[in-house]
Amino acid sequence: MQISDRISKIEASQSLVMAARAKAMKTAGVDVVSMSLGEPDMDTPKHVQRAAQEAVENHFSHYGPVPGIPALRQAVADYQNALKGNVISWSADDVIVSTGAKMAIYNSIQAVVNPGDEVIIPMPSWVSYSEMVKLADGVVVPVETNFEDRYCLTPEQLREALTPKTRLIILCSPNNPTGSVYSMPELEGLVNVLREFPDVYILADEVYNELVYSCSDSPITFSSFADIAERLIIINGVSKAYAMTGYRIGWLMSKNKAFVSACSRLQGQQYTHPTMVAQKAAEAALTGGRECVEQMRGIFASRRKLICQLAAQILGLKFHEPDGAFYLFPDVSTWGTGNEVAERLLEEAHVAVVSGAAFGCPSCIRLSYAISENEIRKAMSRIANLLNNW
Ligand code: PLP
Repeated sequence: MQISDRISKIEASQSLVMAARAKAMKTAGVDVVSMSLGEPDMDTPKHVQRAAQEAVENHFSHYGPVPGIPALRQAVADYQNALKGNVISWSADDVIVSTGAKMAIYNSIQAVVNPGDEVIIPMPSWVSYSEMVKLADGVVVPVETNFEDRYCLTPEQLREALTPKTRLIILCSPNNPTGSVYSMPELEGLVNVLREFPDVYILADEVYNELVYSCSDSPITFSSFADIAERLIIINGVSKAYAMTGYRIGWLMSKNKAFVSACSRLQGQQYTHPTMVAQKAAEAALTGGRECVEQMRGIFASRRKLICQLAAQILGLKFHEPDGAFYLFPDVSTWGTGNEVAERLLEEAHVAVVSGAAFGCPSCIRLSYAISENEIRKAMSRIANLLNNW
């Protein structure tokens, strides 16, 4: 039976593939440490769990408004308005709540990209952007960034990649897989170039914005630039900051009414809206105080310190201390390609990591430190052992 060309051309998510392999080995009795998945290992905060339970008991079981429940849309707008550095005035009407940030990104791409339009994606990048662009029949323009620049796109690289066919640029900060955070001067440098190309949309994926460690004093949001508001799409969600990956709540924000209306139309014909119970839980997360976020950031900060200390002891492992998210992205070319190293790490050392090839950077591997400190120690000792005896 036929599988459409559209779906045949997309690849499976490698981080999910590695996580599934690790799980299968664990089920078979192998003691595997999985550093492959990008999700907090903590429990969802208690007040959020309670809100979900109450939503069930209060019969939040009917259809709701396509762009999301008003209280959650307002909570998202309030959240963004309160972010350090934000200069745009957001309202509930600018927000569409989706099934995870993933769906918000997919819908944004569908809404702005025509067949043949070019979409600039700095590499390495999160696995799904390119596949989503392909699904819109867009042309991915991957721009290779450099280790020396912490894999951040430079204004010069951006200028070289822009053409009259460019419709969209996708930027992710804090970054998955590199953990890098664009500084405000770096963001300004990119925005200065983009000001010369007024027809290009800017999709800013800020899903890790609450997980910033070394430069937490400076604002890092693209909503620091009022003059690009009409073509700015901010993406965020509760998955990473509130340990709510399974609730599947994310959102897009835009001041461009035509774009918001297009995304709403698409969502209305696609899956209507995300689960009502999950929306109530997300509302509780955003309005329920920031203590749980601070606590989680503290835990990740100390894991980050630990993994960096242990990685620094492995001679030949080249990496930057990540400023945000929960990934270390070392270059392993001293030993082989990312694919080779990831494969041997899983099969021989029983540590699941994701090859940088999945993110467009084949000389690296991605280690997620969203696991306990004991597991980090165990994994890093196994990695050191394998690499030292390569
Ligand atoms: N964007 C980036 C950079 C991510 O790493 C992820 C998840 O791993 C997402 C978006 C999707 O997040 P969500 O779970 O809200 O769909």
